[in-house]
Amino acid sequence: MPNRSVHDFLTVASSVVLAPITYSICHSLPEARDWAPIVAAVLFVAHNLSGILFSPDLDMDTHIHKRWGMLYVVWIPYQMVIPHRHFWSHGLVIPPLLRLAYFFWMVVLGMYVVEQIAGYFGIRMPPLQQSITHVFLELVSENPVYAATTAAGFVTGAAVHSIADWLVSGGKQVVRMLFVPPGRGAQKKAMTQHAVSSRWLFDPFSSDSPRHV
Ligand SMILES: [Zn+2]
Repeated sequence: MPNRSVHDFLTVASSVVLAPITYSICHSLPEARDWAPIVAAVLFVAHNLSGILFSPDLDMDTHIHKRWGMLYVVWIPYQMVIPHRHFWSHGLVIPPLLRLAYFFWMVVLGMYVVEQIAGYFGIRMPPLQQSITHVFLELVSENPVYAATTAAGFVTGAAVHSIADWLVSGGKQVVRMLFVPPGRGAQKKAMTQHAVSSRWLFDPFSSDSPRHV
């Protein structure tokens, strides 16, 4: 896999390209013109958050955990449950949204635990976990375009990471395979077998995984 610096660079660089493209597309549509600047900004932020803070490498890279400071404990159960270097951490579309949902529910769970501890010591607290759930649902229902853009940014931010991993493992083999001269059958066959490893991008039941070092 590319190292962390390369992944971070690719995340930021791709967001710098994607945000203006998103702005141009929205601006060209009369019904979306007013939203264009905010949609582009939301996509930019969500894309970078997904690639840098909610990185697919949260499955086992402790350096990514350190970016969360004290909050890194939130990701310990995730690290224990999610198979390392697999579709559920590095696949497209579902895994980045799963990380977002996981983080939200961990925040709700954390607030519930705080409330219970406070109650044990006789301290009355407002129902924090209900309030945050209510605020979240209200935000999503009142701002469906921005909610969908946030989800899209999380998907694109993680996709840049996963595709970079794919290019360095399975994808590179595909590229080589295309340029292997005819007659080197055994070499080409071996490369084809390696190329199958890209199934982890799409298939939750695949036992293949990206090759990380
Ligand atoms: Zn990775």
